[in-house]
Amino acid sequence: MAYKALYRTYRPKSFSEVAGQKHIVRTIENALANNKIAHAYLFCGPRGTGKTSMAKLFAKALNCEEAFGHQCNECGNCLSVTDGSHPDVIEIDAASNNGVEEVRDLIEKVKYLPIKGKYKVYIIDEVHMMTSGAFNALLKTLEEPPAHVVFILATTEPHKVLPTIVSRCQRYDFTKVDDDAIREKMVEILDLEKIKYDIPAINAIIDLADGGVRDALSILEHVLAYAGNSIKEKDVFDLFGLASTKEKLDLIKAIANGDVKDVLKRMESFIASGIDIKRLTSNLLDVLKDALVYSKTEEQILLSVITEKDALDLKNLIEVERLNEMIEILLKAQNDFKVVSNIRSLFELVLLRLATSSNKSKGSEYIEPKEEKIVDKPLPKPEPKVETKIESKASEKSIEQKIETIEVKAVEPAPLVETNGSTVPSWLLEDEMTIDEKIKPAIETKIKSKDSNTQDKCTINTSGDKNAIDDETMIKIMVLGDKEERQTISKKWDDFNALVAHPKYGLVASLLKDGRPYIVTKDVLVLEYDFDCLSDRINIVTNQPAIAELIKGILGREVFVYAIIRSEALRLQKSFFGLRQINKLPKAKDIVLNFKGENL
Ligand SMILES: [Zn+2]
Repeated sequence: MAYKALYRTYRPKSFSEVAGQKHIVRTIENALANNKIAHAYLFCGPRGTGKTSMAKLFAKALNCEEAFGHQCNECGNCLSVTDGSHPDVIEIDAASNNGVEEVRDLIEKVKYLPIKGKYKVYIIDEVHMMTSGAFNALLKTLEEPPAHVVFILATTEPHKVLPTIVSRCQRYDFTKVDDDAIREKMVEILDLEKIKYDIPAINAIIDLADGGVRDALSILEHVLAYAGNSIKEKDVFDLFGLASTKEKLDLIKAIANGDVKDVLKRMESFIASGIDIKRLTSNLLDVLKDALVYSKTEEQILLSVITEKDALDLKNLIEVERLNEMIEILLKAQNDFKVVSNIRSLFELVLLRLATSSNKSKGSEYIEPKEEKIVDKPLPKPEPKVETKIESKASEKSIEQKIETIEVKAVEPAPLVETNGSTVPSWLLEDEMTIDEKIKPAIETKIKSKDSNTQDKCTINTSGDKNAIDDETMIKIMVLGDKEERQTISKKWDDFNALVAHPKYGLVASLLKDGRPYIVTKDVLVLEYDFDCLSDRINIVTNQPAIAELIKGILGREVFVYAIIRSEALRLQKSFFGLRQINKLPKAKDIVLNFKGENL
């Protein structure tokens, strides 16, 4: 059985299957019905809200052989748009290095008539990432587009697109998809796949996905890999390091009681279980909002995350004024998280502030020095500032790896990659045997397990000390990045899909398959992820051995694996290009990376 990502399998096949975005669907359908086609569209909106899916559906509607405006999904044109092979529907990721080249190339070819369809459709993703040269070249084409060409530009950051480009496009703003629409889509898929679930589990996934359908489905896949064919709320909490409602309520109660010791103890236990602090903050705000609403209305129907009993408890415990104050402090913290490097320390201070200011609310005297005393006390386990370029905290079970001098290779940084296609690992399948029969023996010879009991499932820890690489070092790694090797590895990446059901390596494969190779050097592989809860898991020191083992099966050599999230990758790429422009990039031959620490 070939594995295919849920969001690819269940990509909408017609406008009516699109989750949310009804306003856009209706406008586009009307335009098609009246044959009023613009030459350029700008699809703006958060990631995973259906911009690319909509663009593909539009391309089908323009070229469907059954009828203009349809998506029959059976004619040659529809089918080849679906599988990405249509010669007239060209998708370009402007965020990748060759994106610029491709834009230039497309502008060259724009004048030629479509080969197979009626319209040539150019879908340019992340259009804001184009260089000014490419922008200008595109602008010229947009000024006088040939009649047979439709441009669909997609971006998550419309403010970064040149106004002269925006003004030539029909703009559509995609919104985050509302929870009900995502829930409907997920339930439909789960029923089709015959998977059992409870609604709180679905709600927890929806909360994590934050309005992105693609994210919801990719989170769902992770939970399935972890929990099998029946998913419960606890599985989602465990896997993604979320606090349960009870834990959140207990924390709020401890804060309200001004029990500083208890607050710190709970904080410690959250950290130990690998909780995502930003998400916890936002969840605490949801609870407080419910409490506030209930205090004012006593309407059970207005509650969204807690029960009426919980709301009543909070009402009796905390005054409205204090609730408002707590909300204010947490909202400010959310903003501050964006600018500080050590979120954990800030969060501890925020909790202390919440707990001590609540003291005041209960009528007890608020004593300034008391707060000072608490703050001055060393906070539990502050993150050590280590001088080495790559920090790594001690861990016994980690792989031993020393990277000394790294030889000079290509100078291009690794761009963002879109992997697609194949599903069966070539190094696993040589004959007609089924994957299940074949994987086990093959993988066990290919991947040398360090411990003797190879039957044991490799677990992935969700908490623990993390490796961290600073920007300066990341730039050096980018300088050493080997573009060709990265492309080679990217092609093999889908191999992990076939391994997600593997008894031993399933969890590790499931974690890896969602990453994209971003930079490859002789000794380091940097992966790019969509969620920090996943990239964090790669960086947890104790997870390295299992990850390195599986990667070795694909790469044929041991590397240090490190993960970053997409926004980080884009930021680093900007710095890289900025430095390159002013000729300030370090020279590859001068770079000596000392990966210090006993586990690197
Ligand atoms: Zn068709």
